[in-house]
Amino acid sequence: MTDDRRFGAVAAITGVRHPICVARSVMGKTDHLILGGRHAVRFARLCGMKYHDPRTLEKQRAWRRKRKTLRSAYFKKLADVAELYGTVGVVALDSAGRLCVGTSTGGIALRLPGRIGDTPVPGAGSYACRHGAVSATGHGEEILRLLLSFRAVSLMARHAAPVAGTKAQAYATEHGCKCGLLGIDRRGRIMCVNNTKSMSWCYVKDGSLRTFKQKSD
Ligand code: ASP
Repeated sequence: MTDDRRFGAVAAITGVRHPICVARSVMGKTDHLILGGRHAVRFARLCGMKYHDPRTLEKQRAWRRKRKTLRSAYFKKLADVAELYGTVGVVALDSAGRLCVGTSTGGIALRLPGRIGDTPVPGAGSYACRHGAVSATGHGEEILRLLLSFRAVSLMARHAAPVAGTKAQAYATEHGCKCGLLGIDRRGRIMCVNNTKSMSWCYVKDGSLRTFKQKSD
C-alpha cells in the first residue's frame, strides 16, 4: 500500500514463490484490491509467475512438531505460541517523502484451510497514508478485529512514530492481541514494538544497516 491509498493484496494463494509480487500486480494491473484462492493463482500465472512449492522438508518437520505440541483445540492456544508466526513486513519513506508498506506471510501455522488472516486486509495487516506506514505481524484474527495498522498510523497524525507505537501496543495488549508493529512516520521516525516473545527487525538509513532482535517489553 502506498500513501496515496493504492493497495493490492492476495489471499489464500498457493504455488507461487513471492505472493507479494502478485499483490503488487493486483495493485498495478487491475482495478481491484484483493484477489483470492485459485483465481489469484491464475492471475499470477497470467503475470508470468511460475509454479513454486514452498514446502521444504524442514518446514514439514516443523509443522508436524508443532501439531504434536498443541494439545488444545484449534487456535485456543495460538496467541501463546510465538513460533507459529512467520511474517515479513517492510515500510519505506523515499527521498520524495512518499511512504509505503508491504507485508507477506505464510499465515499462522496449523490454521484451517481457507482461513484468511490480517495480512491482505487494508488497515489490519498494513496501512499507509500521509502520516505514516505500518505493517503488523502476530495473531491475525485479533489484528483484524482491532484494525491495528490503521490505528497505529492514525496515531501518527498526532504523535511521532515511537510514541504512536507505544500507544498502539498498549491498546493491543489491553485487548489480548499478541502482535508486533513496524512503522515509519513522514519524518522518518521509526516504530518497532511487540508484545510477542520476540521480533527481529532492521533498518537502513543513509546507506547503513542496523539489525535488532527485540524481546517483548
Ligand atoms: N499475522 C499473520 C496471520 O495471522 C501471521 C504472522 O504475522 O506471522 O496470518
